Order: sequence, then structure tokens, then C-alpha cells
Amino acid sequence: MTALSRTEPAPALVDALSAALSRERIRTDRAERLCYGYDATRLSAMPDVVVFPESAAEVAAVLRVANRLRIPVVPRGAGTGFVGGSVPVNGGIVLSLERMNRILEIDRDNLVARVQPGVITADLHRAVEAVGLFYPPDPSSSASCTLGGNAACAATGPRSVKYGGTRDYVLALDAVLPNGDILTNPSRAVKRVAGYDLARLLVGTEGTLGVITGLTLRLLPLPEAVRTLLVAFDDVTAAARAVSDTIARAVVPRACEFMDARSLELVRAHGGVEIPAAARALLVLEVDGSAAEVERDAARVAEVCRAAGAIEVRHAATADEARRVWAARKALSQAMYEVAPTKINEDVVVPRSRLPELVRAVDELATRHDLPIVCFGHAGEGNLHVNIMVDSADAGRMERAGRAVRELFETVVRLEGSVSGEHGIGLTKAAYLPIEVGPLGLDVMRRIKQAFDPLGVLNPGKILPGGEAPGNGPVDELAGDPAGDPADARSGAAVPRR
Ligand SMILES: Cc1cc2nc3c(=O)[nH]c(=O)nc-3n(C[C@H](O)[C@H](O)[C@H](O)COP(=O)(O)OP(=O)(O)OC[C@H]3O[C@@H](n4cnc5c(N)ncnc54)[C@H](O)[C@@H]3O)c2cc1C
Repeated sequence: MTALSRTEPAPALVDALSAALSRERIRTDRAERLCYGYDATRLSAMPDVVVFPESAAEVAAVLRVANRLRIPVVPRGAGTGFVGGSVPVNGGIVLSLERMNRILEIDRDNLVARVQPGVITADLHRAVEAVGLFYPPDPSSSASCTLGGNAACAATGPRSVKYGGTRDYVLALDAVLPNGDILTNPSRAVKRVAGYDLARLLVGTEGTLGVITGLTLRLLPLPEAVRTLLVAFDDVTAAARAVSDTIARAVVPRACEFMDARSLELVRAHGGVEIPAAARALLVLEVDGSAAEVERDAARVAEVCRAAGAIEVRHAATADEARRVWAARKALSQAMYEVAPTKINEDVVVPRSRLPELVRAVDELATRHDLPIVCFGHAGEGNLHVNIMVDSADAGRMERAGRAVRELFETVVRLEGSVSGEHGIGLTKAAYLPIEVGPLGLDVMRRIKQAFDPLGVLNPGKILPGGEAPGNGPVDELAGDPAGDPADARSGAAVPRR
């Protein structure tokens, strides 16, 4: 392979790309490359080139160049990922989908939307809601993440407890394969049994098997009414138990979010929402449906939560109050930095009936390793964001945090859960994937990767542990974002460096 300079792009690469894309869509200056080298982990690495294709044909042309020169290509949506998936740890080409950002069609007869991958998720929400329709997947980053990134990460969000995640809404997709072949699927049927389900296979593969260039998404009618409830508990286990009790009563809320005592301190500091002083845990529950269904379900939820030991059940009186509750919940991810400068952010998931066990296990880990851990998340799905707050300059704490992460993952697998409910594996969790999938699972995944991408050009080093970039060139040190902490959001110290 051509050994590329890590500080200056290789002229041969730029020349080859210029034959495929207009020069204006190839960026080589250092500042611009830096801006496309990080994600929400705050890990960053310098790509050699950033390209902005505007069509599947242009994406294909870039991949053909990459194959010929054996250069890594890293697809990028908005860079909001939490596992380093879009960080170009092996340099190469960052392929930004941001210019493929059109909503092509909202088909009201078939309840389908056709979109390009760079559409911002919240833009689709607004567009379909304006015509009385509903696109349920709503990652908390929806104001900035892209639909292509959502599909690549199989993103979910607060509403997934009732409506499912992105995986459940992708009816068909178009993708460019690593060798530049373009896979298309014009079907907009709501069901299909036509051989292997390639769309489902590609969803959640984090840009390692293909670049998503078009999506056909399922829509629903917009629910008539929504009611938001805030339920406070003085005992964290009681809150966790109320979650499965509610669903066992055949009420599936459209959202069921959990916050622990430390999260509540941050919410109080954020302001805008009153939390009872005695509260040690909070559930934000939302029900939707017809006005009558909402009335009935809200009353049932309140009754179940009181029986489980809630100290206060409050119905958001106005849409504005509900909006403030969600704003406080969405602010939590960033508010964590008030606890410590480095966040090791895991998003483990267990069957919801085992949430109380998970909550107790996390508490025990915090005490045993003497680490502040802040927990919140999508409790209705048993999906908890476990944030171990540390300072990367403190070697002792980092070492203890690394052990806590491994023990956490072993615990969730024992509880019949998963090491990732929604953020994916990317770079930061690759070393831990074997804990869950075992050697055979890993071997099958490697064979799939090999079948799609024999040269290993597409997003190397992601998902599969020990992933090699083509060419074995020297790797960049992962440099910290000047504004942040390079160790942020890592799974302990497990970021692979080649
Ligand atoms: C504050 C905050 C809150 C969040 N809340 C949630 C949440 O509630 N639920 C949730 O699931 N996630 C959440 N996330 C994580 C993140 O927003 C999602 O994973 C999102 O789907 C990433 O989209 P993106 O466009 O930013 O993708 P990027 O970060 O750019 O990329 C993510 C991965 O997808 C690949 N990729 C991107 N676009 C394509 C494409 N077109 N084709 C192939 N591969 C592609 C990249 O190579 C990378 O591996 C949150 C993140 C933040 C910062």
C-alpha cells in the first residue's frame, strides 16, 4: 500500500480523487481535516483527505480509488457517535455524507419516506409531523445526527420502548459496497421475503460493510395525544422495579426514562424542572394514543408506580412543561462533565425485569472500585447509560475504571443482556465484543466482513477486535481534542492502537 503522510495528504491520492469528484469536494487543508477527525467520544485522528460526494455514483468512485490505492475510507454522518466509529484512526479518506441531505419523498399512501443518508433526524421528524405522520426513532442527538448514521448504528432512543428502533423502520436501503459496486433496492413494500435480508444485515454495521446512500423508511400516523409523567422515588431499586411492573400491566409507555440520584443533582442544577428533595431516582414516562387511551394509560401508570413506592407522581400540565423535562433529560449527557473531566460512557442493556439487579450491580461496582458512577437511560428497554466519571490524568483511577468496565460487561452478559444497547461497538468497545459473542460469533462476523470487504478498506479497526488497516502503515497517535479529553467515553483503556 502507498504509505501516506499523516500530516500532509499524498498528492497521488488527491489526483486520483480529482478524477472522480470536483476539486471543491475534496478538502485537504489541515484545519478542515481536523474538523472531520473526531466524534462525540472526543477521540480524534487526522484523515489524509475529506470528501463530500453528492451521489451514490460519486461514493462508488471514491471507493474504487480507495480499493486501487488500498486506502481506508471512513463514512461519516454528523460525528455524534459515542464509540469512535467515524474517527479515522488509520488516516485515509473521511467520506462525509453531509451533502446528501435531501428528503426525496414522503409517500402518504404507503406511509413511507425516501431519504438521502445525510438528512438530520429531527428534520425528518418535522417534515413528516407537518403532514400528520410520525417517524418514531428519536436518538437524544436527533437535532444533529443523520439518518444514515442512525441506520449504520441501529440507533434507538426514548421512544423505542414502544415503537422499536431504526432497525424496525428501514424497509429498504441503497448502499455502495467496499469495492464500489452499488446495491439498490427500489421496494417500498412493508413486507418482503426475497432471499437474505441485506438491509437488515447492513443496519448496525457501523460503516464496515457498505456506505448507506439511500433509505426507505416506514412511517406511522401521528398519535393524537401524548401525556408526560414525572415519577419520583426515594429508592433506586423501587424505581427500577416500577418499570417492569408498568409493562407487566399491559401499558407500554412510549418512553420510560430513568435517572439516578447523581443525575438528579445535575438536572436540578440545569434548572427548569422541579424535583422533590427526597427523590433518589426519577422515571419520566410518556404515554400516547387517542385522548381516551392516554387518559386511561396515564392513570394506570400512576397507580402502578405508587404501588411500587413512588413518593410523587406529577403529570406535566402543559406542553411547555413536558418540553422542559425532555430538555433537562437531553442535557444530561454533557452535564456529566460537572462531575469529572473524563467520561467513560457505556450503554449496557439487560432484559427489563433484570434492571433492579443491574442497578444494584452498578452501585456495588462504584463502591468497590471507589468511582463516581452516574446512571440514566432508557429503562423501559433495560438500557442504562453507565457513566464512570474519572480524570484521565489519574492513572490509578483509570486502571480501576478499566476493571470496572470489564466487570460491568461480564455482569450484563450474565444477566442475559448486551454490552451495547444502542451506541454500537466502533473503536472503543471492540476489545470487549468477544465477552458477548464468543469465538464462533466473532469468527462468523470476520467471515462476513471478509466477504464484503476482502481488502479491508472500509472503516478498518472498527467493531472487530484487532482489525487491521490495509498496508500496516504507522498509525496516528490518537490526539485529544484540544477542547476535551482524549480518554473521554472510552471503554476503560481499551482503545486499540495499531
Ligand atoms: C448527546 C448525545 C445523545 C445521544 N443519544 C443517543 C440515543 O438516544 N440513542 C442512540 O442510539 N444514540 C445516541 N447517541 C449516539 C449517536 O448520536 C448515534 O449513534 C447516531 O446514530 C450517530 O449518527 P451520526 O450521523 O452522528 O453518525 P457518525 O457519528 O458520523 O457515525 C457513526 C457510525 O456510523 C457510520 N456511518 C455514518 N453514516 C454512514 C453511512 N451513510 N453509511 C455507512 N456508515 C455510516 C460511521 O462510519 C460510524 O461508524 C447520542 C450521541 C450524543 C452526542
